[in-house]
Amino acid sequence: MKRIGVLTSGGDSPGMNAAIRAVVRKAIFHGLEVYGVKYGYAGLISGDIEKLEIGDVGDIIHRGGTKLYTARCEEFKTPEGRQEAVNQLNALGIEGLVVIGGDGSFRGAEKLTDLGFPTIGVPGTIDNDIPGTDYTIGFDTALNTVINAIDKIRDTATSHERTYVIEVMGRNAGDLALWAGLADGAETIVIPEEQYDMESIFKRLKRGHDRGKKHSIIIVAEGVGSGPEFGEKIKEATNLETRVTVLGHIQRGGSPTGFDRVLASRLGAKAVELLIDGEQGRMVGIRNNKVIHKAITEALSEKHEIDRDMYVLSQELSI
Ligand code: ADP
Repeated sequence: MKRIGVLTSGGDSPGMNAAIRAVVRKAIFHGLEVYGVKYGYAGLISGDIEKLEIGDVGDIIHRGGTKLYTARCEEFKTPEGRQEAVNQLNALGIEGLVVIGGDGSFRGAEKLTDLGFPTIGVPGTIDNDIPGTDYTIGFDTALNTVINAIDKIRDTATSHERTYVIEVMGRNAGDLALWAGLADGAETIVIPEEQYDMESIFKRLKRGHDRGKKHSIIIVAEGVGSGPEFGEKIKEATNLETRVTVLGHIQRGGSPTGFDRVLASRLGAKAVELLIDGEQGRMVGIRNNKVIHKAITEALSEKHEIDRDMYVLSQELSI
């Protein structure tokens, strides 16, 4: 392998830049040439591809977003689109590709490998919803963003003795909501992986109120429903003064935490190693703090799960 490409695809996450840097520098360290593909699979099809040198990835390790930009690309879901992407790669003599992104991007990577083009996936998403890794790049930063926001909301919730419903991201996964809820002592955490009923949420709120608790934080994962709708229902049923905050895209930005920078560096470098070793169709990940890799197909066939003990603990600690 003499020449590889790297792209970021799907939703961005803090730490993607650190991963790009790791791919580029690790490859150059081993004597390979690296090409950066802009706008994810869309840039692959349109040929928006440029050679990257060591200096091109300088001063980005601490920046959120992605230097290579990202996009969603419907055309890549068609066989013709994917064939055009492979043609572009072949024309430039690129022999392997590192795809940094979420599960959708991994499905694209799997399809490229099916076409005989060696591709390795690096999990980058704030949702932490990719089976095959304990953490995805960006989750820790987003978690800390959510915690900082809730800390601030808690101050005003206490001053005004209000109930706050906070909607957090995570697509169909409850990790961000669960971790943030545990870290912030939320009274109730509503996530897609666990059954809930509104009656018990109301009861919990009333019980807290009756024992003198004047404010409450309820975290709702976006995969369960809309924060404003939860807020309305709670207001109607309990008559408590209720406010809603939808944290939105602030959760996707910001300087990556130390954890995410280190994770991105380790996983990005491992992806290059795998290409050099002739591997393909694999994803890199972290398990018990060891860098691992497994077939993308296998990882995507598994169901992402939350740590149920953590959920039970969150309930025990918020009695
Ligand atoms: P994420 O990678 O963050 O989960 P998406 O689900 O939007 O984001 O996927 C990113 C891109 O990956 C899509 O726009 C598309 O180009 C590609 N992709 C997703 N699913 C498939 C698929 N089944 N086959 C081929 N490409 C896909």
